[in-house]
Amino acid sequence: MNLSECARGLSSLLYPPSCEVCNRPVEHRQYLCGGCAAEAVHIHAPYCEVCSEPFQGAITGAFACGNCAGRRIHFACAVARYRYAGVVREFIHRFKYQREFHLRHPLAAWAAEALEDARILALPADALAPVPLFRARERQREFNQAAELARLIGKRAGIPVSDCLLRIRNTRSQLTFDRRGRMENLRNAFSMRQNANVRGRHILLVDDVLTTGSTLDECARVLLEGGAASVRAITVARG
Ligand SMILES: [Zn+2]
Ligand SMILES: [Zn+2]
Repeated sequence: MNLSECARGLSSLLYPPSCEVCNRPVEHRQYLCGGCAAEAVHIHAPYCEVCSEPFQGAITGAFACGNCAGRRIHFACAVARYRYAGVVREFIHRFKYQREFHLRHPLAAWAAEALEDARILALPADALAPVPLFRARERQREFNQAAELARLIGKRAGIPVSDCLLRIRNTRSQLTFDRRGRMENLRNAFSMRQNANVRGRHILLVDDVLTTGSTLDECARVLLEGGAASVRAITVARG
């Protein structure tokens, strides 16, 4: 338990719990009132089978978006139930950058909803593998958001967490590159941790946000090279 959780725990003895956004009273262990929770933007079908990018229009059945079609992507699918917008984006920022550590609970609950997706249910999930941060960045932030989420999701769903990946090179923000530049930026950024064994196992990568998908793709490539039977990804939100 860290300070922000301690403070919340103590204040809940004195005051009833309140919504993290609008301060209306909420039930015990709730972080949002009904109105604010309803503001979280769901991803509805139709969307890309691979990267979950929603598609405006009438399409029935499976399809791949223009970004995924005809391209070798190493994860079978990346699943998120929410858009990276509104209250979801706000919570991710407050968790990552303002150290509101208690918000990992609602974030993990949102991410765990992806486990109900047919693409995730289609195969066993042998282990959750958080996308690693570079050591220096993890020290600076004091935690890896993906690892914290994976731990909570694993506990909820009874799936073991495997720290099988290492980030061996720091990388710049992916957003400044085009696709080729992103791949170049990520080359050799990840490796399997020594003694990690993913051979024949179905791995679920875990991260907070899917933006371009390049990071998850590179992690998936390394896991497949390490012998993983399949690699899929779940995130709290999709950009
Ligand atoms: Zn509210
Ligand atoms: Zn796609």
